[in-house]
Formats: sequence, structure tokens, C-alpha cells
Amino acid sequence: MAKVTVDASLCTGCGLCENTCPNVFKVEGDAAKVISEDTSSCDVKQAADDCPVSAIKVEE
Ligand code: SF4
Repeated sequence: MAKVTVDASLCTGCGLCENTCPNVFKVEGDAAKVISEDTSSCDVKQAADDCPVSAIKVEE
């Protein structure tokens, strides 16, 4: 299972990652947080690539 983290100091809370992987990311306030590291049902690497501020890190 991948280790997924969001750097809250970079995150703008745009919600893109939550749209891509709603079971992994949830925007709370002005930053996204990781609510599950079960990435089996979505492309978390795509979410990381799409993040406009590169706040998402994925370690296999
Ligand atoms: S896509 Fe990036 S900037 Fe947007 S909410 Fe997710 S982590 Fe934050």
C-alpha cells in the first residue's frame, strides 16, 4: 500500500485531489488531508501529478 502525504503548507485546498480520489483525500478548511491510504480504487499518482502546487507525495 502506498504512503500518501499532503504538505499542508503548500496545499491551496483546490479540491482536485478529492475529485480524483475521494476515498483518499478530503479537503478540510483550506487544506486537503489524507483520510485513507487505500489507493486501490483510484489513481493516486495521477492526483499527485495533477496537484497544481505539487503538495502530494506518494511513496510506494
Ligand atoms: S490538488 Fe493539491 S492543492 Fe489541491 S487540494 Fe489537493 S493537495 Fe491541495
